[in-house]
Amino acid sequence: MIQKQPSCNDPFETGMIPVAAAVEQILSHTRSLDGFCQLPLRDCLGRVLYQSVKSPINVPAHDNSAMDGFAMRSEDIPAQGEASLIPVGSALAGRPFEGACNKGECVRVMTGAIVPQGTDTVVIQEDIEQHEDGSVLIDHHNRQHQNIRFAGEDIKQDAVVLEAGHRISAADLGVLASLGVAELKVTRKPRVSFFSTGDELKSIGQSLNKGEIYDSNRYSLFGLLSQCHVDIIDMGVVRDDPQELQAALRQAAQHSDVILTSGGVSVGEADFIKPVLQSIGAMQFWKIAMKPGRPLTFGHIDDALLFGLPGNPVAVMVTFYQFVLPCLKKLSGQKYQPPRRFAARCESAIRKKPGRREYQRAVAQNDAYGHLSVRLTGRQGSGILTSMKIANCFLVLDEESGAVEAGDEVMVEFFHDYF
Ligand code: AMP
Ligand code: MG
Repeated sequence: MIQKQPSCNDPFETGMIPVAAAVEQILSHTRSLDGFCQLPLRDCLGRVLYQSVKSPINVPAHDNSAMDGFAMRSEDIPAQGEASLIPVGSALAGRPFEGACNKGECVRVMTGAIVPQGTDTVVIQEDIEQHEDGSVLIDHHNRQHQNIRFAGEDIKQDAVVLEAGHRISAADLGVLASLGVAELKVTRKPRVSFFSTGDELKSIGQSLNKGEIYDSNRYSLFGLLSQCHVDIIDMGVVRDDPQELQAALRQAAQHSDVILTSGGVSVGEADFIKPVLQSIGAMQFWKIAMKPGRPLTFGHIDDALLFGLPGNPVAVMVTFYQFVLPCLKKLSGQKYQPPRRFAARCESAIRKKPGRREYQRAVAQNDAYGHLSVRLTGRQGSGILTSMKIANCFLVLDEESGAVEAGDEVMVEFFHDYF
């Protein structure tokens, strides 16, 4: 194979891999977990279907009236002028009319009532005239089948309603309840262990000595993981000590499908993750053409996949969204879909050189005309976690993109849309 020489036209910097290539590699090493559990419907919200669901019934189950009015036989609708019909009873939702409706007769029906036997048309209340003797006058403007909801019109019996791999939403719960489905088979939750590394880290509740900081990564990761329907195992803080790290990783590998660590993956003197990982697992150490989040480790220890996330608090969150989430989704049986992007007008100029993909923290809102407009949150350092707190999206500047002028169209990815 001919090796292409690096050139300044390359979409990303030499020695770095683009975000999409890293995602592809991660997914190629990720397999959906075996096993399922059967749960009551309400416990399935946010879970992923293990097998497709077919409808046990027609929805609606019977032909029924869409309006309040009178049900009749369509042959009684006059070709011209008006016709008079005799009401022979009434039907309400849940209280059907048990008799038959013969020629020249009609039945009073309420919305949702089963259409009485023999009838095929409903004329709404506002379009009839009722005489003192009780007879009902209809005119020639009416059409066969009007105002009737037919059995199976929404969902046919045995039709696939939801596919395996689908994540259950609130609307799905309603649809499944309308079919009388009481339980579902959903995929097993991935077990995710995580810990922070760093001698400078203290847990909240402890006092800080000079140079120490509170461990925030475990909290933002906990928040992100809590939105993913995974079992979470918080292993606390591990010191920058090779033995301690190795012990923690071995322990995590025994109980987890995925291990997340933060910090210690760069090339500083206290960055021990790399040699420790190499000694107990198979790892790739990537420099990713992205900002923030350049160093990333991915690999496995036995059957547990491992992400060595960067230490900087913003980089942790960015790499979680871009790399960990696709992996967790695939483990739990979902299909990978690249994050959705929305075009927005950038409110200010942004300096950038082609080479890396940037995930700038931003707030996207509708402008006075309803169009999306986006502004940066302010300083974009990878340690400035408040930028994530203010933001509702990433303003994504792709690898090849250069500087942006105020008013240019840019792409945003909303945080809530990643899940
Ligand atoms: P490292 O990659 O370990 O050199 O960490 C990079 C930066 O992120 C350093 O300033 C660390 O103090 C900081 N950092 C690492 N881990 C955490 C954490 N769990 N919470 C807050 N900041 C952290
Ligand atoms: Mg560190």
